[in-house]
Amino acid sequence: MQDNWTLAIHGGAGTIRRDDLTPETEAATRAALEAALQAGGAILAAGGSAEEAVVAAAMSLEDCPLFNAGHGATFTAAGSIEMDAALMTSPSQAGAAQAGAVTGVTRIRNPILAAQAVMRATPHVLLAGAAADAFAAAQGLAMEPPAYFETEHRRAQLIAAQAAQTVSLDHDLPAKMGTIGAVARDRHGALAAATSTGGMTNKRAGRVGDTPILGAGTWADGHVAVSCTGTGEAFMRCVAAHEIAALMRLAGKSLEEATSEVALLRVPEAGGRGGLIAVDAMGRVALPFGTEGMYRGWWRAGEAPHTAIHAE
Ligand code: ASP
Repeated sequence: MQDNWTLAIHGGAGTIRRDDLTPETEAATRAALEAALQAGGAILAAGGSAEEAVVAAAMSLEDCPLFNAGHGATFTAAGSIEMDAALMTSPSQAGAAQAGAVTGVTRIRNPILAAQAVMRATPHVLLAGAAADAFAAAQGLAMEPPAYFETEHRRAQLIAAQAAQTVSLDHDLPAKMGTIGAVARDRHGALAAATSTGGMTNKRAGRVGDTPILGAGTWADGHVAVSCTGTGEAFMRCVAAHEIAALMRLAGKSLEEATSEVALLRVPEAGGRGGLIAVDAMGRVALPFGTEGMYRGWWRAGEAPHTAIHAE
């Protein structure tokens, strides 16, 4: 069998000016993206599933304080941390696509593992708030005190966003690191998508973004797996991730055409901006963004892993 697994990851989109990015920060960020590619790619190379690979890549990025997910998540206007995550896989031979998500969680070390537990251990798709935290604890997932998630540069971002009276995309703020995601096609042809975030800095407490809403920020079916980053409200208004699947399935568009149309036209029309990563059933990958930059990486069987920040 031809080994054509593919993995793509993102660490968020936004105003990432070349001049603002110090060589040290760029090197540290690329090293973190590379580590996440290695974590997921090793699983795919060994014949593991797309689901396992996107979860491993997402965990690696959640654990890194450079990105807005898990350790290093952004603050709400109330000074709290409320995280969202989702996981979705293409339909198994037995039938339906699988999906799980959590929103407004505050204590789960790796929210993507909680999304996976919702998918595997409950008949539900989305659990919210304190009950989702309690569910994760009962599942034996690692829990952390609030101080674990909080970092100094995120608190500085909140103070800056409040002074400017804005709700900000992480990468539009002085320290430019963001939401994370991973998509994969495994050697057996299964697709999976994972996204995890602290949301937008200075968001209202209780606000739910696109990340945990299936079809908006995260989607996988038999055609394509998608993970988005950007102004969540715009991605929700145009159901961005599912729109890509619809354009491919119903309008016969290629991965390239469908992803560019959504990232560069539909999302701006819906009042926001950002980027996304997607992989199709053939293992092709697309990583369009309508912002100055998007931290991203991709790795296909038989090729070297790549990382990138600006347009290439
Ligand atoms: N899409 C995320 C949200 O709106 C934010 C981001 O991608 O940085 O919650």
